[in-house]
Amino acid sequence: MTALTLETDVLQNFIDGKWVDVENTTAVTNPANGERIVQVPLSNRYHVEEAVKAAKKAQKDWALVPAPQRAEVLYRVGMIMKDKKERLSRLLTMENGKVLEEARGEVQEGIDMAFYMAGEGRRLFGQTTPAELKDKFAMSQRCPVGVVGIITPWNFPIAIATWKSFPAIVAGNAVIWKPATETPIMAYELAKIFEEAGLPNGVINVVFGKGSEVGDSMVQNEDIRVISFTGSNDTGRNIASDCGKQLKKVSLEMGGKNAVIVMDDADLDLAVEGILWSAFGTSGQRCTACSRVIVHHKVKKILEERLLAAMDHLTIGNGLEEGIKVGPIINEAGLNKIKKYIEVGKQEGATLLAGGSEWESNNQGYYFTPTLFTDAKPDMRIAQEEIFGPVVSLIEVSSFEEAIEVNNQVTYGLSSSIFTRDINRVFKAQRDLDTGIVYVNAGTTGAEIHLPFGGTKGTGNGHRDSGVQALDVFTEWKAIYVDYSGKLQRAQIDTEE
Ligand code: NAD
Repeated sequence: MTALTLETDVLQNFIDGKWVDVENTTAVTNPANGERIVQVPLSNRYHVEEAVKAAKKAQKDWALVPAPQRAEVLYRVGMIMKDKKERLSRLLTMENGKVLEEARGEVQEGIDMAFYMAGEGRRLFGQTTPAELKDKFAMSQRCPVGVVGIITPWNFPIAIATWKSFPAIVAGNAVIWKPATETPIMAYELAKIFEEAGLPNGVINVVFGKGSEVGDSMVQNEDIRVISFTGSNDTGRNIASDCGKQLKKVSLEMGGKNAVIVMDDADLDLAVEGILWSAFGTSGQRCTACSRVIVHHKVKKILEERLLAAMDHLTIGNGLEEGIKVGPIINEAGLNKIKKYIEVGKQEGATLLAGGSEWESNNQGYYFTPTLFTDAKPDMRIAQEEIFGPVVSLIEVSSFEEAIEVNNQVTYGLSSSIFTRDINRVFKAQRDLDTGIVYVNAGTTGAEIHLPFGGTKGTGNGHRDSGVQALDVFTEWKAIYVDYSGKLQRAQIDTEE
């Protein structure tokens, strides 16, 4: 598949339902082979302002469309995505590198989200509650916030965009979306799908460009009342601090240092499969990637042996080719970061059992061999910091309690997993693991869209993507009191009559 399938060689912004040229552009390359795929705009503050103007105007009308009708657009979006699933998946692999099977899974996540959030168009529940005075009615309802900004990363370029834009839209907001510059094609395709589905002009606006220019302009723009961000911790913290000064609502989903715990009673073959999928899928470039295995000392040796044997079968290469299990790293900077952590791990005294080096392709792709460290200690940097590559470190423990403690000893709190056959351990673990997502007898990845997605501690700031909880980010609560007594009734004062 080549750039021809995109219908264009230079992407445009999508503002007020029109495709708009931008003078400056930069090349998007396929991480599997270094080939240029398309040019992406490098927009500036002016483009963001134009998008906000359009969004403000569109949002007023959109909020007045009954929510079940707003939802119908999302149903159509879901149907079109379904029809285009294979095309979207292949384009996703081209721009991001993840293997085709995983790309199909990511697109499916977006389709699921469309139908799920369309259903919310007939719910968007508020509450009725008794009033404290006679002949008085009390209720609360969700209201749209207005114009909202979403900023998305390259590692899940379509799924994360749907987690954010679909709830925002069904709730009656208008959206300004800045996708990652590395992966703009999914944004272009999704904007086209919105257009085909009949979303009114200006309800979604896509502005391509750098975070420091477009992202920052969105954060600083006072008409954008919410920023929903997924990305790295440094960027997220800066955004949160800028939003804080403006009393702007901000939802952050950031990094992880996810662990799989393997107890002495675990089904080890299953644990190996779970670790492989979580650690090396998407070449370890998932926020939920397993990068620590906390293993009971009684099964450490045998787990190491089985992991090493299984890792031998992980074929590396272009994710569009049959049988490839591990695709490329997104770019050279990502590759260099992984290499740096291999040196850190060695210097810290961990033992390198497998991998640890770049995989030499016969082209300009960026590849890293699946890597296994053992004898890591919980406080080592390789066991504390997000590497974002196919690198996993084994940490030995002597008890269930120690395993839980080690799991929780990181600043992140996204996902964790435990392999055990002991029901008491299962329930204690799901209670005590301090992460937003817990898996039992499965790896650290595999979230479903109707549950809340996000993490505790340094992973976020208490909000959640997906699930019904996503609506909390994009709505304000309004309390409404209707007094039908025909006289002045004062709350808290006239209650004793
Ligand atoms: P990043 O922080 O570099 O970029 C994320 C987005 O923010 C991009 O669109 C980028 O252009 C934009 N950005 C950069 N600087 C900005 C600024 N100053 N102002 C506004 N926007 C700015 O992250 P990345 O490398 O694209 O993504 C990888 C990170 O995302 C990892 O840390 C990963 O764990 C995290 N992630 C988290 C989740 C989650 O749900 N918790 C999901 C996926 C990825």
